Amino acid sequence: MNLGRFPRIRFAHLPTPLEHLPNLSRALEGPEIFMKRDDCTGMSSGGNKTRKLEFLLAEARAQGADIVLTQGATQSNHARQTAACAAKMRIDCHILLEDRTGKTDHDYRQSGNVLLDHLHGATIEHCAANPDMNGELVKVAARFKADGRKPYLIPGGGSNPTGALGYVNAAMELMGQANDMGLKVDHVVHATGSAGTQAGLIAGLAGMRSGVPLLGVGVRAPRDRQEENVFKLACATAEMCGAAGAVRREDVVANSDYVGAGYGLSTPDSLAAIRTLARLEGILLDPVYTGKGMAGFIDLVRKGMFKKGQNIVFIHTGGSAGLFGYVGDFGFASRHA
Ligand SMILES: *Cc1c(COP(=O)(O)O)cnc(C)c1O
Repeated sequence: MNLGRFPRIRFAHLPTPLEHLPNLSRALEGPEIFMKRDDCTGMSSGGNKTRKLEFLLAEARAQGADIVLTQGATQSNHARQTAACAAKMRIDCHILLEDRTGKTDHDYRQSGNVLLDHLHGATIEHCAANPDMNGELVKVAARFKADGRKPYLIPGGGSNPTGALGYVNAAMELMGQANDMGLKVDHVVHATGSAGTQAGLIAGLAGMRSGVPLLGVGVRAPRDRQEENVFKLACATAEMCGAAGAVRREDVVANSDYVGAGYGLSTPDSLAAIRTLARLEGILLDPVYTGKGMAGFIDLVRKGMFKKGQNIVFIHTGGSAGLFGYVGDFGFASRHA
């Protein structure tokens, strides 16, 4: 797979570290656990969307766009990273934030990622929960076009084949690091949402014939729908980078048992996982994605899916800025507007 032929703007600190988590490994008495630190991609406190934005915003520039539009839930990490990258490339950014959780407290509505969106100079509008947010974004784009602007639309999570190229690249980076360390990777685990991360990783791992299985821990959709979304996008992404047909349906595995009450709503186990990583490793997870991903991973270790003697890589996809939008979930008083 040759990614060098796609336009790309370098925003991320790469390669991100691949490090052993000795204390968590010892505490769980299971496999050796390694973490791929994509929370350390650099822009605006980091996260996985920065890898996608390297390819997406290069396309925006090639198309002569003068404003970037995207959408997400109120505490969207994707929106925050888009705002930061747009600021760095000196292009306007407008964000449509969906009230997907029904949370109304001050922290959720104004702190965390929302504060950072403002600091990066993005303009923001809010809308009610909507099952077709990308359709809503097209309406917003029509408004900007009527004003003579040239908008570039980024779908929720940056999840289309162009964005997923960022995770094809991450798969190659990860396998290169593992090879250099003499590390045999038995399984890769991460939180999966809008599907671009998992789709890119699968396209990359399959395209390299790595033989490394991948598990996505779902944060929103039921398993069947999540796997269908990932499979479709993984096939399109593989085709885009010259590996058409490399992805098989059985390569796509998601587990949606850890969603809890819904997207963006913490669970007792996700809060426990956040505390565990903070106290054992000094690493910050987040309530929406990586806390649930880690809670699922820990539960599956306890159930024997991952065993002593194996090496498992958990990809930390970022999101710690969102912690400040969820202060009340940790038992502290949150301010009400
Ligand atoms: C967006 C996001 C994910 C999920 O990635 P997708 O490509 O949307 O599936 C995981 N973790 C964090 C912190 C995210 O912001």
